[in-house]
Amino acid sequence: MTATTSADAPDAIIIGAGIAGMYQLIRLRELGMRVRVYEAGSDVGGTWYWNRYPGARFDSESWSYGYSFSAELLQEWNWPEHFAAQPDTLRYLNHVAAKFDLRRDMRFNSRVTAAQFDDASSRWTITLEDGAQDSATLLITALGPLSAYTLPNIPGRDDFVGPAFHTARWPREPVDLKGKRVGIIGTGATAIQTIQTIAKEVGHLTVFQRTPNWAAPLHNRAITAEEQAKIKASYPEIFERCRQTDTCFIHQSDPRKATEVSPEEREAFWERLYAEPGFGIWVGNFRDVLVDPAANALMTEWAAKKIRQRVKDPAVAEKLIPKNHGFGTRRLPLESGYFEVYNQPNVELVDINETPIERITPKGIRTTACEHEFDVLIYATGFDGVTGPYDRMDIRGPGGQSLKDAWVGTPRTLLGMMAEGFPNLLMVLGPHTARGNIPRNIEEIVDWATGLVRHMRVNGLKRVEPRAAAVEDWARHVEEAAAGLLFSQVNSWQTGVNRNVEGRDVRRTLGYYGGAVRYRHKVEAVAAAGYQEFAFR
Ligand code: NAP
Repeated sequence: MTATTSADAPDAIIIGAGIAGMYQLIRLRELGMRVRVYEAGSDVGGTWYWNRYPGARFDSESWSYGYSFSAELLQEWNWPEHFAAQPDTLRYLNHVAAKFDLRRDMRFNSRVTAAQFDDASSRWTITLEDGAQDSATLLITALGPLSAYTLPNIPGRDDFVGPAFHTARWPREPVDLKGKRVGIIGTGATAIQTIQTIAKEVGHLTVFQRTPNWAAPLHNRAITAEEQAKIKASYPEIFERCRQTDTCFIHQSDPRKATEVSPEEREAFWERLYAEPGFGIWVGNFRDVLVDPAANALMTEWAAKKIRQRVKDPAVAEKLIPKNHGFGTRRLPLESGYFEVYNQPNVELVDINETPIERITPKGIRTTACEHEFDVLIYATGFDGVTGPYDRMDIRGPGGQSLKDAWVGTPRTLLGMMAEGFPNLLMVLGPHTARGNIPRNIEEIVDWATGLVRHMRVNGLKRVEPRAAAVEDWARHVEEAAAGLLFSQVNSWQTGVNRNVEGRDVRRTLGYYGGAVRYRHKVEAVAAAGYQEFAFR
């Protein structure tokens, strides 16, 4: 197939049919635009389409996570649990796709491998894996910050003869783990959900841990009929609350400082947060916990005590306590009985700092101590976050320059919406945007991007790109916002470190950490002043 003819060419191409791509399609249709969405998966859902691993569920309150743009949708949808499981979220996104008839503009099983901007016509041409092409004036990337999954760079990875899965490519058909010997590499948010779920049914589970993570209880439960009615009556207040917090969750940091209250007051507050559902203990903590090393040390010691209380074997408990980063300085996984899993006789924790993995063998995993034999291997080894999905596509600007090369040190963006030197390319949730409760961030970014597109259409403008001085200002501001955070001093996907990817061993600032409220003020001010930071033709 060749490029579409002018008669059926879309005005805009969106890459990705997850939460962002779906909403962007709805908004651009409202402008009367012809839109085509290309999606690598066989259906909608993005993250929730791919991540079908056992135990996958929200860490965000379900009722703060769904789309907010349609009152009818909010009223007709019943979230079954306060923190919905992946099948329910995927069911929800299917419902949205059907309700708004989204699939008619979507092409599935269509992975975009390249995008090239033509300077003369100011159009993007995209190329799919099978060589087919399409073109449009506007290209919108809705790739998801966590879609480029990474396998561990361990020798012999293809040698294992049994089934082996990355959690982000968990099969659609059920995987029977009952009574099996299972090995899992990784102890991030994904692994924690997987481990606490499968430990109940496997014969034997061996967890290979490189870096332990702090984790706190999720406290999920079903939503009662009474709660359902209350939630539906409160959506305006719920979303207004999310607009007022730094992370767009319902939780906001406490105005007190951990270092200024009495030990009794401090511990009582932490006990309360530990007993409450959701991210309160992370983003609703004392305001100095994530910025002041002394406050963080107090919280860290308290959280370590909790692990020691929950894990019976003191040696195992010590292994599960992170020593190289303080509480909350990486994205905090929420758990449901995770630490107690290590009290089960069928679960073994292997600290691979003590006994490093030498290779994957046909039978399992060989460490410096012994060979562990498995029926099934699970790689919960994470993602090349935020820029990874861009790096995996050959995106080229007007002079043929590649985005991957342009971002080799650090991404250069304006408001995280556009990359410097890449006209007519709008990014939803690209680097340098505020990130927290993701659908809330997505709706705001998509609405803003739609406003920019509307401005162009109303004024007959064909081409937009960020001005160099504005990019420079934004880059400086992004770095300033990240500078004081303890989080910025720790290796994680959020700081762009992934040791499975060549060259990704240096920390970078990949988000906007000045808070969602400040971010909103910035982008709204740019729009209100007529987009002076952008150059139009
Ligand atoms: P992750 O946090 O990056 O964890 C990957 C794990 O694999 C880490 O423990 C890592 O160890 C380990 N690992 C990677 N390569 C390895 C290797 N070669 N050898 C040994 N260990 C290796 O990834 P994730 O758990 O998939 O989570 C990513 C993000 O997805 C989360 O932070 C969260 O934002 C999101 N998520 C959300 C939910 C939810 O909402 N409920 C659930 C799951 C995930 P090191 O730490 O030493 O690198």
